[in-house]
Amino acid sequence: MFRSEHEMREAGTWDESAQTITDTICPYCGVGCTLSLHVQDNEIVKVTSPLDSSVTDGHLCVKGRFGFSFVQERGPRAAEGPSGDAAGMPRGG
Ligand code: SF4
Repeated sequence: MFRSEHEMREAGTWDESAQTITDTICPYCGVGCTLSLHVQDNEIVKVTSPLDSSVTDGHLCVKGRFGFSFVQERGPRAAEGPSGDAAGMPRGG
């Protein structure tokens, strides 16, 4: 289970009926996996890949599955504002 999903279920805010799913292509490497972004309240809450994808068969590597934190920070760090340097690259760590 995804950390965000776990936290939202625990808080009683997980609502699949309020989520939209948008497919896009993972930009991390040249494999080009299809990512399905599950969005609730204008935040990505989970990333999956379609089971019928000829590239992934529904499986993603950790970068594709959990890399959405680079486009959207959750928790206390979100209050600090956008991360990254002037070129938009995420901070190391
Ligand atoms: S999910 Fe992983 S293997 Fe697929 S394109 Fe992204 S980084 Fe590459």
